[in-house]
Amino acid sequence: MAKISINLSDGSLENDSKELVIGIDLGTTNSLVAYVDRDGGQPIAVKDEEGTNKLVPSVIHFAADRAIVVGREAKQYLASDPARTIYSVKRLMGKSLKDVGEHADFFGYRIIDEDTDALVKIEVDQKYYTPIELSSLILKQLKKRVEKALGQAVSKAVITVPAYFNDAQRQATRDAGKIAGLEVLRIVNEPTAASLAYGIGLDPSDKKKIAVYDLGGGTFDVSILKIQQGIFEVLATNGDTYLGGDDFDRAIIDYWIERSGRDKASLLADKELGQRIRIMAEEAKQKLSTEQLVEGEIEGIDCQLTRTNFEALIKEPIDRTIAACQAALKDAGLGIGDIDEIIMVGGSTRVPAVKKAVSDFFQSELQDSVDPDQIVALGAAIQADILSGNQKDLLLLDVTPLSLGIETMGGLMDVIIPRNTKIPTKAARQYTTQVDGQASVRITVFQGERDQVKHNRQLGKFSLNGIPGMPAGLAKVEVSFLLDADGILQVKAKELRSGVEQSIQVKPQYGISDKDLATMLKDSIMHAEEDMSARALQEAVNEGEQIVLTTKKFINSNAELLSKEELEKTRELISQVEGKLQGSDKDALQAAIEKLNDFSRPFAERIMDIAISKAMKGKKI
Ligand code: AMP
Repeated sequence: MAKISINLSDGSLENDSKELVIGIDLGTTNSLVAYVDRDGGQPIAVKDEEGTNKLVPSVIHFAADRAIVVGREAKQYLASDPARTIYSVKRLMGKSLKDVGEHADFFGYRIIDEDTDALVKIEVDQKYYTPIELSSLILKQLKKRVEKALGQAVSKAVITVPAYFNDAQRQATRDAGKIAGLEVLRIVNEPTAASLAYGIGLDPSDKKKIAVYDLGGGTFDVSILKIQQGIFEVLATNGDTYLGGDDFDRAIIDYWIERSGRDKASLLADKELGQRIRIMAEEAKQKLSTEQLVEGEIEGIDCQLTRTNFEALIKEPIDRTIAACQAALKDAGLGIGDIDEIIMVGGSTRVPAVKKAVSDFFQSELQDSVDPDQIVALGAAIQADILSGNQKDLLLLDVTPLSLGIETMGGLMDVIIPRNTKIPTKAARQYTTQVDGQASVRITVFQGERDQVKHNRQLGKFSLNGIPGMPAGLAKVEVSFLLDADGILQVKAKELRSGVEQSIQVKPQYGISDKDLATMLKDSIMHAEEDMSARALQEAVNEGEQIVLTTKKFINSNAELLSKEELEKTRELISQVEGKLQGSDKDALQAAIEKLNDFSRPFAERIMDIAISKAMKGKKI
């Protein structure tokens, strides 16, 4: 099995394509797109139309008339129209509200999720967006930018993600690419891309251990990598997803306000003034990377700062990053002397005190000559160039050409091994039962890129029988896929509480021609948008059915604790959800679910409290 690309215009396979593949750094605050220049062979980050900026702020604004703008233009609305201005969407990729947890306040827009285990959605003017859809808008903007700059269409990309992203977050990033009309040839770890930008790993004889220190505007991570025979392996990662240059800015603001003797809360209550001080603080910080003193004044507040003072202000956050480096090394089972290269990534690594702290800790020189804002995108472009066949195939490994997965509720495809995963590989996921006392589950295995299994290729099916009787949702069925080096797939289902198991073997590539393969890939991209909406609708229907079922069950068993009005209103809201289940309006269904949730939550909590206090009374201490 080898790398397979398709020509989107005619669906033909291009095993030896020379088509341009772009590299994308899809960042939390800023994103960039880069490509390797055919003539010079060097990676280049693409500038905006004015030819000034390479960074595209990862911000999306929805106007009242639903017009969408992305990037610098959207950023202007952060302060004036926060509910319609979406930023930091990367933090929500593949996450449930439970995952976002205490940080939900960080976002100025509305994140909804009633079932705290389900993936979050973002509500803007009664329309519901997934982080995948929102990220795809940023990717579309980048695609547009590079197409305009080069005067040619591009359809293939490499996208980077943090090394700590899990499978769901990686899959979400792939899906976002697909909706943006991009065939994502590979998802690459950001620290791997940063290493490639320094040429590390391009020589197959390279055998090194690398520390990549990435301090951006709002996030920090450090990764320890091992490179051997062109294969990068992540040994450990550590960090803090809410630590970065923004903390430095805040420390400066606090310092200035404190010195002025004015009251912080009342000063910052003036949003416009707050914004001016924030911008001044960020500028002062950036200047102090090259100068010793900055001076200024806003509304009588003296904005003076020396580099020495600034360094004292940011000592604590810097120390925290060093503690994370220490922890990562320990997890990797390495000592400081084992690290061959230290690579600096992210705008905040321009701060001299940061460089010094990292260099002192590792007792070594740093790699900091490549622009820390662009390095990840440039590395992604190098990886993209390798995949497009322009360089020796050093990093090309055997991969599976189509995604493999199983059918889940509502006929949806749940991918277990994504397309382009290097083989051999294994992956597993847990599922549960839908009805009380369910004794068997049916596992149907599919291959393909479409969201609904009916459009994919069925490889085989079997039943796992003999699951002991238990309430719905309690059984734990683990489905594991093992794809060996010969391309043979073994699928096993095991109920973990009882240990019952069943398995089959299939050959995913058997009986499928290159032409079929090309058609399947092409279809998946052509239908990405409609597939996405169909999936979103089906997921909303699943959620709706579930909530109708549980609310009915709840009011039936607690009828005596509810008022007549509560009962009547709940029944009415249930029937409103039921009324929308058959339709195709996802937003209307979502809104009906929200209404039912909002209404029933207070009395559900009240009844829980009664149940708890009853239980407590019964207990003897
Ligand atoms: P990133 O998320 O990698 O784009 O990094 C953005 C962060 O880097 C922001 O907090 C910027 O203020 C910060 N930054 C950019 N340039 C400099 C500089 N010259 N000195 C200090 N911080 C900088």
